[in-house]
Amino acid sequence: MGRVTTDVTGVPVPHHMDWPDLPVKQQPSWDDPTELAEVLATIAHYPPLVFAGEADILRERLAAASQGQAFVLQGGDCAETLSGVTGPNIRDRIKTILQMAVVLTYGAGMPIVKIGRMAGQFAKPRSADVETRDGVTLPAYRGDMVNGFEFTPESRRHDPKRLLRAYHASTATLNLVRGFTTGGFADLRSVHMWNKGFLSGPAQARYEQMAREIDRAMRFLDASGVAEAEELRRVEFYAAHEALVLDYERAMVRRDSRTGRPYDTSAHFLWVGERTRDLDGAHIDFISRVHNPVGVKLGPTATRDDVLALLDKLDPEREPGRLTFITRMGAERIGDVLPALLESVRDEAGSVTWVCDPMHGNTFTSPGGYKTRRFDDVVAEVRGFFAAHQQVGTWAGGIHVELTGNDVTECVGGVSPIDLDDLGLRYETLCDPRLNHQQSLEMAFQVAEMLEQ
Ligand code: PEP
Ligand code: MN
Repeated sequence: MGRVTTDVTGVPVPHHMDWPDLPVKQQPSWDDPTELAEVLATIAHYPPLVFAGEADILRERLAAASQGQAFVLQGGDCAETLSGVTGPNIRDRIKTILQMAVVLTYGAGMPIVKIGRMAGQFAKPRSADVETRDGVTLPAYRGDMVNGFEFTPESRRHDPKRLLRAYHASTATLNLVRGFTTGGFADLRSVHMWNKGFLSGPAQARYEQMAREIDRAMRFLDASGVAEAEELRRVEFYAAHEALVLDYERAMVRRDSRTGRPYDTSAHFLWVGERTRDLDGAHIDFISRVHNPVGVKLGPTATRDDVLALLDKLDPEREPGRLTFITRMGAERIGDVLPALLESVRDEAGSVTWVCDPMHGNTFTSPGGYKTRRFDDVVAEVRGFFAAHQQVGTWAGGIHVELTGNDVTECVGGVSPIDLDDLGLRYETLCDPRLNHQQSLEMAFQVAEMLEQ
């Protein structure tokens, strides 16, 4: 990447990037500027986590999803934690996503574009800067990339060294993900194996039945001599996270040696969240300058003007696959709000990929004080998403879900229902509630049925 210079805020940036001084939300207040500068200079010289050519292939896959020729499955934790970066956790999340993808492929008969919300999802926007407990006020937890969850002054300080730990944790995660998805584990002959080690329930049983049918098909292909195809042995799997902490994302920008274009090499796909998507703010400016496929979350207050301005700013060339809108309207509001937005983009010849996040518009607090979501609301929002696209004549391009392979009790409902009273049994998320393994599989079956129609 070469020479590093310093911008107006003292942040080292690759010399080709002249970051403008724009309003910026949700950033850490690092406690040691000298240490921050050193950390960022180190990160700016570290190897990229992804290769620009991979991001380009993902752009083609997302282009297919924008035209109804593929469907996106994006999933993972709300917030990864450094202590959660373990082999079993990563394996079970990958297995869950592979299982969901098989269910969707089988139902939809179209390629599923698999994107993890992982290997970099270490920072969170917060509604308040501080948190008060028993009369003590400390900075809010902003994700392990910034500070610790433990409620002590030492843990809650915004420590620049955490950026290095997040980089290394992302590297280790991505390394294992690549091992699992290309080293034989993702071979379609292993569909049964992906179901092993999870609690059994109705969704797992339904999966077993489908896996038996896939086995038969595989035996048929083997017998016909066509089963050696690479496609059956490995899967393409992409990494994504919210581009939130701009110090980190800027330090990860590298020029593609083939074309000279800048990419944010911290992930294949980056999105900007609902709280930081101001048109004239630093986050949208940042993703407008990198050549990765990028996304923006759209909540229920997004207007036609917002959406068209984002389209012009982020995808002026109307390049298929470049821009994904991830809508998170809430099950109640999606039917009222989404169709007009779909129409306005369609009328501007925008070929964006539309993805449904059915989680963030359906969060509430249980009587026991747990942040939770109802499985039925999550499914209802996806149903509303498909209905809106059908009404306007556009393509429902995918789903974005917060999930874990672990057997947690964070969302209520599902076929082996978790009640509001059960939430305390195994509530482990430090941020938003995730679908557990059973609920994730069940959701995949329901979405597969919507895709079949
Ligand atoms: C998230 O994806 O965890 C998140 C904070 O979502 P949103 O930007 O949609 O609020
Ligand atoms: Mn979340």
